[in-house]
Amino acid sequence: MKIVVAIKQVPARDSLLKVNSSGNWIEDADLSYEINEPDAYALEAGLQFKEKQGGEVVVICAGPDRASQTIREALAKGADRAIHIETEEDSAGDPLVLAAVMAKALEAEQPDLVLTGLQSDDLGYGQTGVILAETMGLPHATLIMNIEPEGDGIRVKRELEDGWFQNVDMPLPALLTIQSGATKLRYATLMGIKKAKTKEVKSLSVAELGGAGSASIRVERLYVPEKSKHSQIFDGPPKEAAAKLVEKLRFEARVL
Ligand SMILES: Cc1cc2nc3c(=O)[nH]c(=O)nc-3n(C[C@H](O)[C@H](O)[C@H](O)COP(=O)(O)OP(=O)(O)OC[C@H]3O[C@@H](n4cnc5c(N)ncnc54)[C@H](O)[C@@H]3O)c2cc1C
Repeated sequence: MKIVVAIKQVPARDSLLKVNSSGNWIEDADLSYEINEPDAYALEAGLQFKEKQGGEVVVICAGPDRASQTIREALAKGADRAIHIETEEDSAGDPLVLAAVMAKALEAEQPDLVLTGLQSDDLGYGQTGVILAETMGLPHATLIMNIEPEGDGIRVKRELEDGWFQNVDMPLPALLTIQSGATKLRYATLMGIKKAKTKEVKSLSVAELGGAGSASIRVERLYVPEKSKHSQIFDGPPKEAAAKLVEKLRFEARVL
């Protein structure tokens, strides 16, 4: 069983973010980075499935040089090898372009199972997994909480709304986008960290994979929403005032 897990390196969650001087992205000079949280769960799901079924876990990551730190962490947690698609530090991409490049990088791999996170914590388009499935011609399921072997394929548990779940039987090969929080994440052991240094990381340039083409999405402007305070007094008898308040809370503030 060959399991590929797509991992992205994103700014650490406790970072103090500022908009850059061009106004189209965040100032990234002094940021620290970490694995995108949903991808940590995708990696965990991949490692657990390998423990049940055998085989190998290959991580794939597109990003600049600094992404090698995140790749090493994934290897230290138990991934067997990695593919690093090297991008420029300040280059941008979009899920369509990224999926095309990743599909090309995975052509030679022929994975049985491809796992991605549900969405990235920085750009957050939530599109890469499903577009990658389409590009690779794989069936896919989203919001996956659990994966079990079932005959020649798998049975996956999807999260729906309001505490509802759906079990779906799928053939392999397939692509799944993994929901965060479904399981406990493992830590890298000291032995794992040592071993990671000797594991294979194959570097591929975007040009080698057919080039990035032109992006279909461009971030024009990034801004912090302005906070404002606004008070309103409801006159009249308490019953009428309360009814107006409930209406405002329900239909304007949408908190009820
Ligand atoms: C030519 C080119 C240059 C790029 N340059 C950079 C760069 O300098 N820095 C940078 O951080 N990103 C870079 N990227 C990646 C790209 O900007 C975004 O990651 C991509 O648009 C996905 O959108 P998203 O982050 O909203 O992911 P979503 O669609 O929200 O992500 C869903 C899932 O897809 C997977 N995924 C998303 N992005 C990646 C990734 N980069 N690597 C592996 N798996 C991923 C993860 O499993 C994630 O949970 C580049 C891409 C290309 C093609």
